[in-house]
Amino acid sequence: MAEDQLEEIRRKIDIVELINEYTPLKKTGRNFKALCPFHSEKIPSFIVSPERQIFKCFGCGAGGDIFKFLMLTENIEFGEALRTLAKRAGVKLRRYQPSESEKQKQLLYEINHLASEYYHYLLTKHPAGKKALNYILGRGITRESLARFKLGYSPNLWEALQDYLVKKKRYRTEDLERAGLVIKSEKRRGYYDRFRGRLMFTLRDHRNNVVGFAGRTLDPKQEEAKYINSPETLVYHKSDLLYGLVETKAAIKKADEAIVVEGELDAVSSIQSGVENVVALKGTALTQGQVDLLGRFTKNVTLAMDQDVAGDQAARRGIELADAADMAIKVVVVKGGKDPDEVAQKSPKLWRQLVKKAVPIYDYFLDSAFSRFDARTAEGKRRISLELTPILVKISNKVVQSHYIRQLADRLRVEEEAVAAEVAKFITEESAKAPSERKDYEKVETMNRREILEEYLLALAFQSENWVLLRKREIQQLIKTPRFQRIIEALSGYLKRYKTLDSQRLAKMLPAELKEAFDRLYLLEITDLIESEEKFRKELAKIKLALKKLGLKEGLKEIGSQISELEKEKKPTKAERDKLKKLHEQFRDLSAELSGLEE
Ligand code: ATP
Ligand code: MN
Repeated sequence: MAEDQLEEIRRKIDIVELINEYTPLKKTGRNFKALCPFHSEKIPSFIVSPERQIFKCFGCGAGGDIFKFLMLTENIEFGEALRTLAKRAGVKLRRYQPSESEKQKQLLYEINHLASEYYHYLLTKHPAGKKALNYILGRGITRESLARFKLGYSPNLWEALQDYLVKKKRYRTEDLERAGLVIKSEKRRGYYDRFRGRLMFTLRDHRNNVVGFAGRTLDPKQEEAKYINSPETLVYHKSDLLYGLVETKAAIKKADEAIVVEGELDAVSSIQSGVENVVALKGTALTQGQVDLLGRFTKNVTLAMDQDVAGDQAARRGIELADAADMAIKVVVVKGGKDPDEVAQKSPKLWRQLVKKAVPIYDYFLDSAFSRFDARTAEGKRRISLELTPILVKISNKVVQSHYIRQLADRLRVEEEAVAAEVAKFITEESAKAPSERKDYEKVETMNRREILEEYLLALAFQSENWVLLRKREIQQLIKTPRFQRIIEALSGYLKRYKTLDSQRLAKMLPAELKEAFDRLYLLEITDLIESEEKFRKELAKIKLALKKLGLKEGLKEIGSQISELEKEKKPTKAERDKLKKLHEQFRDLSAELSGLEE
């Protein structure tokens, strides 16, 4: 899609007008406010900036432009949002030229689709598939399910699929290889079929494209892997796939809950038992891609895993991702069978009941830890706390977190403060050792006073269009937070190239990771402060003063700790005594300066 046409549509459609049709907006100064349409809330935290033509919810984090808004509210793809908005704007889209890689993708979908039909035909209609058919019917999978999920059979031959697709359908073997269906032989010339003699599961994305396959062995001796999957291809990305979603997304939306199971057969059997709102992960832990995808249909995720989720690091990581995406996570404790498939087949009613009785994930973690360690002994308490602290730390909602801190303290029969202290200690240790991971904690709620003040100062300058203010050395010296320093640097670059101020243009010059910080500068509500020159100057002076004081206090703290380090020395050297003296002097000067400012 040509960027200039996107721009034209953005120009012709006012984001305020568009959003107003979905959720009534109220003017607050230069921005607009509303109850967020993407999560439930009582106090509006959804802000729209007409100047920047963006929206942002400070509650759930959703944000973007008109296209993103439509995609989220209507649950549609970018392409559809584009067509809808182009129509509304009266922009005639130039004939869409698919790129080379899109053409390649289409070709792979086509090949996969034919392969799926071929395997399905062999399973359901051909004598070669008889054994596989008996096997799968014997497991209680109905013919209706076989058709709905396009199960199939790959014949136990080296070149069956290849013959069909190349000789009969005239596709190129190289393209079959790109689709992951054939493998280049190392010993002899030519290619052989990847899937042979297996029960085939067709893997489709949520838009009904066939992206790949999973093949289950029918050989109980199992010399080869139980499952063989398509390799990563242009169209198959294992970590983005949710098996069954294309069939179950309507049910998921309706129930406003997704039951996440481990395998293909767990999903199919669950659906047959009447629990339709399921997807399968195919034996892995939930990934970011899957969380994002699922989040478009529901924020309530119920995990039905057959292994011990509490002990499984990979599963925990998935849970963390879902929690960070503000999902409410529950766990089904699977009983009466080894996995959901077995339970649902043996007793559909039992499976439905288990799903209904799913417990919130953190209750489950607590129960699991308390069932494995003896909470009456000090050692047991230590083990339980060691296991649960890293989990509690990562609960993003502070109210929920404090709820579980109290629970844990109660059940351990210790003071709540002790548990809270362990959680706090963990955070300090973490942030000390892993600066790259610290981003997790750098969320809005945890902005420290310095960041809040600096953001305020930048917002004042940008919103009042007093950009040059930020080029003054006096101001630049007050800014210490890297992301704000980098925004100021980008601004300098901008002002060297352009004479007029255009926040949209500046936004485009920023590296992606600074965009959010920059957007926030326009979303902060400070209109009343910049409407008059006098108020503006007063406010600016106030912030400058506050930042100066903060800088002095930080300096004092630093010097103070250096002093107490040196004073620990029983027999200081001459150099150390001199250093100490100098530090005391500096300390006095800074104190004097600070008290001067404080008057
Ligand atoms: P069973 O009849 O023994 O329950 P199953 O076909 O239901 O077998 P499980 O062993 O329950 O399979 O495994 C659950 C899921 O994990 C499978 O559906 C598959 O997606 C994945 N899986 C299992 N084994 C493998 C493997 N060897 N390689 C890749 N994925 C696997
Ligand atoms: Mn199974």
